[in-house]
Formats: sequence, C-alpha cells, structure tokens
Amino acid sequence: MRKCLRCETEMVENLVLMVANGYGIDVREKGALKGALEKIKCAVCPECGYTETYIENTEKVKKLTKKEK
Ligand SMILES: [Zn+2]
Repeated sequence: MRKCLRCETEMVENLVLMVANGYGIDVREKGALKGALEKIKCAVCPECGYTETYIENTEKVKKLTKKEK
C-alpha cells in the first residue's frame, strides 16, 4: 500500500502512463540496443492528486547496481 507523500491518503496503484498513440513509457539504459528494463507504473492520490511513478519488479535494476565497479 502506498501513502501519499503530501497528505498521507492511501494512493490508487497499478495505473499506467501512456503517451498518445504509443505503448506507454518504460525505463531503459541509454543506448539504442538496450531493451526496456521495466514498464513504468504510477500511483495517484485520490485526495490531492499527487502522482508518483514506480516500477513493480526491481530485479533488473538491482543487477545494474552490481555491474558498476
Ligand atoms: Zn495526497
């Protein structure tokens, strides 16, 4: 459960961000050959409208931190 950082109301999760006529927004490493790491989801506070983005599965991102020397 996510609480709004501004007013502490329980947020509505699992919503998606979409670009118009597109396929959503994802997170990826820089570089043309890099595939998407994960689709970005968002949560919205039903009281004040505060919106935050997050990813569900952080495994691929965790691996990136281990790769760095
Ligand atoms: Zn709020």
